Amino acid sequence: MSALVYLDYAATTPVDPRVAEVMQRYLTLDGTFANPASRSHMLGWQAEQAVESARRQVADLIAADPREIVWTSGATEADNLALIGFMRANRERGQHLVTSIVEHKAVVDTASALEREGFEVTWLTPGADGRITPEQLREAMRPDTALVSLMAVNNELGCIHDLAALSEVAHAGGAAFHVDAAQGVGRIDLDVGRLGIDLMSLSGHKTYGPKGIGVLYVRRSQEIRIEPLIHGGGHERGMRSGTLATHQIAGMGEAFALAEAEAEADQARILGLRNRMLDGLSDLSGIYSNTPIDVAVPNILNLAFEGVDGESLLMALRNIAVSTGSACNSASVEPSYVLKGIGVPRALALASLRFSFGRFTTEADIDAALQALHHALPGLRR
Ligand SMILES: *Cc1c(COP(=O)(O)O)cnc(C)c1O
Repeated sequence: MSALVYLDYAATTPVDPRVAEVMQRYLTLDGTFANPASRSHMLGWQAEQAVESARRQVADLIAADPREIVWTSGATEADNLALIGFMRANRERGQHLVTSIVEHKAVVDTASALEREGFEVTWLTPGADGRITPEQLREAMRPDTALVSLMAVNNELGCIHDLAALSEVAHAGGAAFHVDAAQGVGRIDLDVGRLGIDLMSLSGHKTYGPKGIGVLYVRRSQEIRIEPLIHGGGHERGMRSGTLATHQIAGMGEAFALAEAEAEADQARILGLRNRMLDGLSDLSGIYSNTPIDVAVPNILNLAFEGVDGESLLMALRNIAVSTGSACNSASVEPSYVLKGIGVPRALALASLRFSFGRFTTEADIDAALQALHHALPGLRR
């Protein structure tokens, strides 16, 4: 077979060439390379302008004020800053955090670290569709609950949370609401005002921007205070010190502007690809969707292949880049904690693959995956 077909967009996306083109303007001597914090010369001001313009591009996509955007190194750091920074700054408000067992490791491991620091965490278990219901959250709320952290779109399953309903419950209980929306940008509406979001983590590289850049949205309000994790020059209103990476920031800004302009068309096309994949598999038996199709983004399709060994299936599909569970733990042979978390039996979880599509996926890519599956499955099941 020919070149590798990339169906792992939920792990990372390629940088859009239009984004790469913008980024190159901020690196070399003939570009705007200066430190955006340099106030004493023109080149510094130009770099600052580029940073502020990108800040507005990101803010526009989530209907926020640019002053509510804090640049970080990615969604992982944003999740750490949201959870640790908020809980430490609000000890008098309460020591209790509510989250779920199927969050990204950047939230799960951070919440565990907070437990070791003496905070209390309630770990909600989702239903088979991967979602926490508002009723479940209401039951978990306590008088000392300071923060609720739930993801917008699950990175392994693609299921979408009802953020408006969940934030209402969090606020009714006197808690702030944090959302990891790394997988939501360009897929679902992320209007922070309408959805009642107080803190939101975003990543550049899940939306055709560069790796190594992200954002924590921090609502401008007396109620939402954050203790910094990284101390230094007092950048980003004191919440995150460190020289701003102009090229990364400009890239993320451009990527988010493109997402805002093109999301609808992208998503409609990707829905067509997802349905082509499902239709193409309908003649094969013993394939189950771990993705709750009716409440999921169209770009993630997590499928379980009954009666096959996952590793052998991955080997047979070596020309198709897909993921077993999440890319972050593909080194371990344990079933994905997310699939386990929604009650998928161990054998089926081990025989599950996540196909994820994006802006540059073609019908030919889908057909190559379908062909590889039709070719491999009968032999693997024999
Ligand atoms: C990718 C991802 C992250 C981590 O983002 P980075 O920018 O790579 O640190 C966090 N949460 C979710 C849901 C993700 O998909």
